[in-house]
Amino acid sequence: MSEGTAKKEEKPRKFQAIRGTRDLLPPETALWNRVEQAAHEAFATFGFGEIRLPIFEPTDLFVRAVGGETDIVSKEMYTFVERPEELELLPSISDLDVFLQKVRQFYKSGEIPPDNLALELVENQLKKVNDSLAGISNRESRDRDIYELIMLFGALRLGNDISLRPEATASVCRAYIEHGMQQLPQPVKLYCMGPMFRRERPQKGRYRQFYQIDAEVLEATRLDAAKDTSKELANDAAVDAEVIEMVMTFFDRLELQGVQLEINSIGCRECRPKYVELLRAALLKVKDKLGPDSQRRIETNPLRVLDSKLESEQPIIATLPHIADHLCEACAKHYSAVKRQLEMRGVIYRENWRLVRGLDYYMRTTFEITAKGLGSQNAVCGGGRYDGLVELLGGPPTKGIGFAIGEDRLILSLQESGKAPAQQGRDVYIAWMGERAHATAIRAAKDLRKAGFSVELPPVEQKFGKALGQADKLGAKYALILGDNEVSEGLWTLKTLADGSQAKYTEPDLLDHLRKSKRVSS
Ligand code: ATP
Ligand code: MG
Repeated sequence: MSEGTAKKEEKPRKFQAIRGTRDLLPPETALWNRVEQAAHEAFATFGFGEIRLPIFEPTDLFVRAVGGETDIVSKEMYTFVERPEELELLPSISDLDVFLQKVRQFYKSGEIPPDNLALELVENQLKKVNDSLAGISNRESRDRDIYELIMLFGALRLGNDISLRPEATASVCRAYIEHGMQQLPQPVKLYCMGPMFRRERPQKGRYRQFYQIDAEVLEATRLDAAKDTSKELANDAAVDAEVIEMVMTFFDRLELQGVQLEINSIGCRECRPKYVELLRAALLKVKDKLGPDSQRRIETNPLRVLDSKLESEQPIIATLPHIADHLCEACAKHYSAVKRQLEMRGVIYRENWRLVRGLDYYMRTTFEITAKGLGSQNAVCGGGRYDGLVELLGGPPTKGIGFAIGEDRLILSLQESGKAPAQQGRDVYIAWMGERAHATAIRAAKDLRKAGFSVELPPVEQKFGKALGQADKLGAKYALILGDNEVSEGLWTLKTLADGSQAKYTEPDLLDHLRKSKRVSS
């Protein structure tokens, strides 16, 4: 190998953000901050408090809450195994028996969810291998036994399954239970924001790390609730409508364009299974005309067929039975109360009988909000009611409703409609020359920053011409010129870069002048 090629190979690897993740850079991050600030403010006016949650949770939490059959859980989660420290170093065959004893103890104490059958298989296979090693069998069968042992050991559970969160509702419910929030005045209103992770095919508006703004209302079921069902239904309908009103108010504040709210009721444990059977029967009759995805869903989850965007399936789907005609009395009452409540709040909605959500936990109210400029990924918010989810996760009987806003898409839509802020330029660039001027410049920068101005102070002396060029590039409004003359006179020169005009000020007058002009421009 010549020296040249060796050098080439040493070139360090160029790293890139992992597919489906991305860096958010200024000035775009200013828009993200503005959106998040608006959420803090809008949600606070509805009495919501912020909850900050871990980014990873036990995988089982999502399996239970979101549902093992859903796309999210069955194929999109980022999952890894966290082994206890004592099991971190994998053993050689000669220490394997000691290692397996430790595993057995972890299974016994429940620190690792036990998988005793798998453990026994490994133990038995180890015995077999030890016998082979003692020389009873021939080499070929010994190798086969060792290979088998490695395979079985590889499948053994040595730690806890942990997943990066694909959504937030499950974690909020976990936290509600963990902190005994049913003791607090009900309902408990929480919101959170942050990254979510789903291994989906990346495209515009669809990422593997994306951001959600999420709000949830949780309410422990009153003991006497069963006695007064109509009051409970009215209560729940008002809560649903207020949650929807809140997200619509938030979008309104952001001046999000083309906002459309669609609602539906997907029934409850009583009526939905009957409807699903009806739907399945209707789908089986037209099975041949459906695509492979929908055909599969007839068995696994017929409701999801309604979600299909496939052009050829649309006329068939249009003939399917509507759930609204098959809701039980309580669900029907609840649904019409939600609609009335939305009207009372001036929230404009459209009913969409085909709106079902991809997560198992929803019941009754479901809704989705779309916005402009997003192509086919145009849903900026999805939500619904999930009574019973907290109980499913081992908590007390609790009702719930919430939504998740896709922040990436929200930002995209705002950018498309020209709501993105321009690059924030500096207010003042300090052009200084000379040792004495440097000291004054440092002090001036401190005072100006304290007064809230954005200041650029070059670290080394520059010729005035170069400094002014730099100030221009950074989009500064003013250049403050400090040379020996200015310092000894106590009169500082301020140049307005837009028109090139220049004026001299004493230090206090200068601050005053800048303050006044800032007030005028903002
Ligand atoms: P979609 O039908 O667009 O896949 P979803 O039903 O999977 O959405 P939810 O799980 O309800 O979405 O999440 C709520 C919101 O989060 C969505 O409306 C969307 O704005 C956003 N969202 C979901 N998945 C992604 C993703 N991979 N990238 C960016 N945003 C996403
Ligand atoms: Mg999805």
